[in-house]
Amino acid sequence: MQDFLEVTEVVWHSPGIFELRARRNGLAFVPGDCLALFGEDGAASRPYSIASGQQEEEIRFLIRRMPGGEVSGFLAERKPGDRVKCSPPFGWFRPGPRKDGAPFVFVATGTGIAPFLAHLRSHPDAPPLKCLYGVRHLADAVERDWLRGVCDLRLAVSRETVEGAAHGRVTDLLDDLPIAPGMHFYLCGLDAMIDDVSQWLEARGVPVPHIHRECFFNAA
Ligand SMILES: Cc1cc2nc3c(=O)[nH]c(=O)nc-3n(C[C@H](O)[C@H](O)[C@H](O)COP(=O)(O)OP(=O)(O)OC[C@H]3O[C@@H](n4cnc5c(N)ncnc54)[C@H](O)[C@@H]3O)c2cc1C
Repeated sequence: MQDFLEVTEVVWHSPGIFELRARRNGLAFVPGDCLALFGEDGAASRPYSIASGQQEEEIRFLIRRMPGGEVSGFLAERKPGDRVKCSPPFGWFRPGPRKDGAPFVFVATGTGIAPFLAHLRSHPDAPPLKCLYGVRHLADAVERDWLRGVCDLRLAVSRETVEGAAHGRVTDLLDDLPIAPGMHFYLCGLDAMIDDVSQWLEARGVPVPHIHRECFFNAA
């Protein structure tokens, strides 16, 4: 069993968000899986969702560098060839089509797009009905051009006005959401967004088991 990753590259998408790339070495995973990645001296670990596709030779993570962050700060400074201690893949969030083929929707804030990228990179032929994506600045909206090519992307940018994107929060896009019986909704990112969207969906009769949640960050 592989208990470390060998870093190939750290790529910055914006001043606060980077991609950690590593050799995959045959590591098996399904979209939605996380790995616990360890910080300096293997002391502390945090979960990070895999953002790459199942066919890729590298494994990729999309990480927000937290101010003063012990593990995200450590990972941000890795160089090619460094080793990062890790756990085996684990997870319960499984974005994508259900067995009954019912339509589904993705809603993400920030790096919460990672498991949806993993799904779309693995199964570009099985897109969501819509993908709502909320970020602070346009530069934080990673892979937005690629996403536009593979799914119906709706972008909300909260801290700047951008042509082609709504100015505000991802929750401002909810009125555009189609709601039909049997649909599934996958929410990932900030807890406040997940709570607001869940309440909005429940108020419109979406059954709780059809609302799938993966919380990365706490607004408090
Ligand atoms: C299932 C799961 C999957 C995740 N996947 C990703 C991912 O793909 N990409 C990604 O960027 N992050 C992800 N996270 C968040 C990640 O695990 C860490 O919480 C984050 O990187 C901060 O860790 P740190 O050691 O850098 O910060 P710490 O040293 O622990 O904390 C630094 C500062 O940030 C604050 N802080 C720490 N963690 C959080 C948090 N979760 N919410 C709000 N404030 C916090 C602390 O209060 C402190 O002020 C995921 C979390 C979970 C639970």
